[in-house]
Amino acid sequence: MSKFINETVTYVHHWTDRLFTIKTTRSDSLRFRSGEFAMIGIEVDGKPLVRAYSIASPAWAEELEFFSIKVQDGPLTSRLQHIKVGDTLLVSKKPTGTLVLDDLLPAKHLYLLATGTGLAPFLSLVREPEMYERFEKIILVHGVRHTEDLAYKDFFENELPNDEIFGEWVREKLIYYPTVTRDEFKNQGRVTDIIKSGKLFADIGLPPMNKDDDRAMICGSMAMNADMSAILDDFGLTVSPRMGVPADYVVERAFVG
Ligand SMILES: Cc1cc2nc3c(=O)[nH]c(=O)nc-3n(C[C@H](O)[C@H](O)[C@H](O)COP(=O)(O)OP(=O)(O)OC[C@H]3O[C@@H](n4cnc5c(N)ncnc54)[C@H](O)[C@@H]3O)c2cc1C
Repeated sequence: MSKFINETVTYVHHWTDRLFTIKTTRSDSLRFRSGEFAMIGIEVDGKPLVRAYSIASPAWAEELEFFSIKVQDGPLTSRLQHIKVGDTLLVSKKPTGTLVLDDLLPAKHLYLLATGTGLAPFLSLVREPEMYERFEKIILVHGVRHTEDLAYKDFFENELPNDEIFGEWVREKLIYYPTVTRDEFKNQGRVTDIIKSGKLFADIGLPPMNKDDDRAMICGSMAMNADMSAILDDFGLTVSPRMGVPADYVVERAFVG
């Protein structure tokens, strides 16, 4: 029996020549928790060519959403970037992952720390009611190189705060903090640097992170994850050692490079 479900592409949006979003149908049998990832891909020469992808839609949604890089010589994304509405996307039957609310101990604030396509799992979680029920403030930090890489900026600044279901929660609790490293922008600097220097906390009016009040989820490159984890360790937070063991923060890589 195949490990994959055939979903049908319903929407494709190209943000830039390096970033795009795909939406597909969602089979009733596909169960996952907001923040998890699946293996997705296409059939090439009769065989599945798949990669890990965070599911960017929430667990309750009727469609699936994925936020993808385009690596020009990447085996999957050099092809996937040409996918069209009506095409088939393979999605693995058993999503999994560490970026789940179940693995965080209770606290006041939740920091969602992303670079690049590491935003994807947080696109799911910001539409997860449980997150707003459990935390007083949620701070989503998205670090990118160029302003054009701030995909979903309008979603966070306009769409979500006016959403029928989430609008009130979002206006009261969600702080969206995009930051850019290579262009002029209102917030500049690497996610790790603005946290280490305290700039982020000064800008959003919250105290520096501490074990009593703060929890975090990290999703970026291997290097970003390692640097960020070291910073959170210095703040006194403890990482969840494995799935199912709640702690102060959880980490997952969005890509390997
Ligand atoms: C748990 C997990 C979740 C992931 N979720 C996502 C996701 O939601 N969206 C997504 O686009 N990718 C995600 N990835 C990366 C994804 O699995 C693939 O690596 C990516 O789709 C490129 O595939 P490829 O076959 O074209 O190239 P690959 O051979 O897989 O990668 C080639 C090189 O491209 C670079 N690269 C790969 N992915 C990225 C990226 N996302 N951003 C920047 N550089 C990258 C790396 O340097 C890598 O060595 C995730 C990876 C893991 C492990």
